[in-house]
Amino acid sequence: FQSAYSFEPQCLTGKTILITGAGDGIGRQAAKSFAEHGATVILLGKTTAKLEAVYDEIVEAGYPQPAIVPMDLKGAEESHYQGLAETIESQFKGLDGLLHNASLLGTLGPFEHISLEQFDEVMQVNLRSQFMLTKALLPVLKQADKASIVFTSSGVGKKGRAYWGSYAISKFATEGMMQTLADELDGSNLRANSINPGATRTSMRASAFPAEDPMTLPTAADLMPAYLYLMSDASADNNGQAYDAQAKA
Ligand code: NDP
Repeated sequence: FQSAYSFEPQCLTGKTILITGAGDGIGRQAAKSFAEHGATVILLGKTTAKLEAVYDEIVEAGYPQPAIVPMDLKGAEESHYQGLAETIESQFKGLDGLLHNASLLGTLGPFEHISLEQFDEVMQVNLRSQFMLTKALLPVLKQADKASIVFTSSGVGKKGRAYWGSYAISKFATEGMMQTLADELDGSNLRANSINPGATRTSMRASAFPAEDPMTLPTAADLMPAYLYLMSDASADNNGQAYDAQAKA
């Protein structure tokens, strides 16, 4: 489809961008697209082999050399995020973009069947980790000329839906985190926005909708104009907005 978002071919040249959940799905595609458009990407994710495969693809394509940060957001604590911020500051001389993309769907089902353990796990991966990572990286991002934080939302982060329990609640809170932070950052060099990918052909979508034919869905690559727009300086004046990656021109 014809995307509503436009971007220049080398719009991310000279920028360093960290992507969470960079080993699969939308995060994997975003990492490759950001690198293709000139960025040095820091690939954070749970499964090291997946991150290595993305790393290899980026190097083989001749894009700027990426870095790998294996991290399980389920177990990571504040000290790990602090260590990561220090490494980024010393090795990359700064950070211009942060894409919060990693998420856990959790178990879909009736509210009364959601165990506290499942609820806590989804909140840990989808929400608390974002809080800790953002908090640790804010001082580094604030040093950049123009920097962008993008949170990943969902349709169920704007309107509740039966049986989407923990995941939907975590996405509402993600929108809330974005808005609160954006209001605080208003007028600064740093901006925060959210993006709703919309139904996309990935393994998360397949586990949520097992009866759906994946070939009827847009691919992660189809969403990239919106992601590139939000990470590039083209969106420098936009703060606190919720974007729809599948908005059509
Ligand atoms: P995938 O399940 O395909 O990919 C999710 C990524 O997050 C994987 O790379 C996974 O790593 C990583 N991840 C999950 N748990 C952890 C963890 N504990 N620590 C570190 N990394 C972790 O999902 P999508 O690409 O479909 O989704 C990307 C984002 O888009 C999510 O925020 C999702 O909520 C959102 N979204 C997706 C939609 C869709 O239709 N696909 C629709 C609306 C929103 P690993 O593979 O190693 O487990």
